[in-house]
Amino acid sequence: MRYISTRDKEASVSSAQAIEQGLSVEGGLFVPACVPRLPEGALEELCAMNYRQRAVYVMKLFLEDYQVAELTDFVTRAYGPGGFDTPRVAPVRRLDRNTHFLELWHGPTCAFKDMALQMLPYLLTAAVRKNGEERKVCILVATSGDTGKAALEGFADVEGTKICVFYPRDGVSDIQKLQMTSQAGGNVLVCAVNGNFDDAQTTVKEIFSDPAMREELSEAGWMLSSANSINWGRLLPQVVYYISAYCDLVNGQEIALGDAIDFCVPTGNFGDILAGYYAKNMGLPIKKLICASNRNDVLTDFFKTGVYDRKREFHTTISPSMDILVSSNLERLLFHLSGGDDKETAGYMDDLKRTGEYTVSKKIKAAMDSLFAAGTCSDQETKEVIRRAFEEHKYLMDTHTAVACGVLEKYRRETGDDAVTVVVSTASPFKFCGAVLEALGQTPVGAGPELIGQLESASGVSAPEPLRALAGKTARFTDSFDKAQLPDVVRRFLK
Ligand SMILES: *Cc1c(COP(=O)(O)O)cnc(C)c1O
Repeated sequence: MRYISTRDKEASVSSAQAIEQGLSVEGGLFVPACVPRLPEGALEELCAMNYRQRAVYVMKLFLEDYQVAELTDFVTRAYGPGGFDTPRVAPVRRLDRNTHFLELWHGPTCAFKDMALQMLPYLLTAAVRKNGEERKVCILVATSGDTGKAALEGFADVEGTKICVFYPRDGVSDIQKLQMTSQAGGNVLVCAVNGNFDDAQTTVKEIFSDPAMREELSEAGWMLSSANSINWGRLLPQVVYYISAYCDLVNGQEIALGDAIDFCVPTGNFGDILAGYYAKNMGLPIKKLICASNRNDVLTDFFKTGVYDRKREFHTTISPSMDILVSSNLERLLFHLSGGDDKETAGYMDDLKRTGEYTVSKKIKAAMDSLFAAGTCSDQETKEVIRRAFEEHKYLMDTHTAVACGVLEKYRRETGDDAVTVVVSTASPFKFCGAVLEALGQTPVGAGPELIGQLESASGVSAPEPLRALAGKTARFTDSFDKAQLPDVVRRFLK
């Protein structure tokens, strides 16, 4: 299967090339030229498999130039007991009859980014080999918190690669910051950026689309690639867990095979929920994808009005991984919903760049209305949700998951939809101890990893091992930079 760019359909590449390049040269994102359908009887077969087998099955449908044996080796290494604390990898937990949590934080960095970033290094280094590429690969990452650590953990000491992570200096939690700045590995660099996530992301995109910079690095033996969710190799492993969750509900007799369910997804860059959109297009019975935002509600407004307007105040919230005003992966959705119109998609992106907003066609808006719902949850409501779920069900959730839960409650009240719903749970509550403690009515004493013990005693739940191990670690990387300095930072790193 070929991959094409959202801004130029003629730019068609193999899956290995799409994964190696990350972003198409004219700035578009790679999408499959046509989304493969699950063959007749596939869901039954998938129900009988474990997570790793499901991952091989689903990924193979999209990756013609990878062998089954290769993918089997990758999933064994990516989702093995060394990294994940449960053989189920992405377990589904029941809250009540129609509400279930898909827990995507059992990996090494305790957030859902591990689902993709434990896999990406294998997909990427294999792609480089397949393409006969002789240069080494430098991964550039802009992170709102969780991607950075997950990418560092995935790429640390991977031969033939270096990885450089930029995070907004004041936009990540203390634990997230320490997770990144204490990263081990001889091929890693972590930099704070004076600005917010969008500043970091925009600058990384500019570095990628600067031909002179690429040329210069190429002469020095380096090519750039991306571990952000704009890379197809990031998105694809995420399609797997939608299908896997559905199979788990069938196996647990919560639903019958063929029943349509809803997914509610805490959303930032629109990667996670977009993977759900691909799963639906493969034929997974999904009725609604509910897009949950925090106070940065640009997506909620977009789904309501069809106008994407980034010209608004940026808010720092207790769910920092969703503090985003420009959701890159939306471009892929627009491309698909326009019927694969690259000129139309490029036009929207150009409007966004020039004027800070765009308005989608009636056709796209109608398709959005039938597939998606959207809503917003404030910090105050988020804390309420955490408190109530803990009091009523003894279920402890993090702030991002709680945003999704809060939006789901409102959606159910407004629409009367009571379909079985999977809430995508994206982080361990122990990554955001301060806010979770406050939600439980406690006053946090101390900061960062010091709070882990306090939350353990307040909740009676044990923290994941990788977070406990943070106590006593110190930062290796302490520098912060202005946006304009970042290209030079990359040059020096690759000297
Ligand atoms: C990244 C992240 C999100 C948002 O996911 P997107 O794919 O960017 O929409 C939500 N929750 C957590 C904990 C995250 O790390």
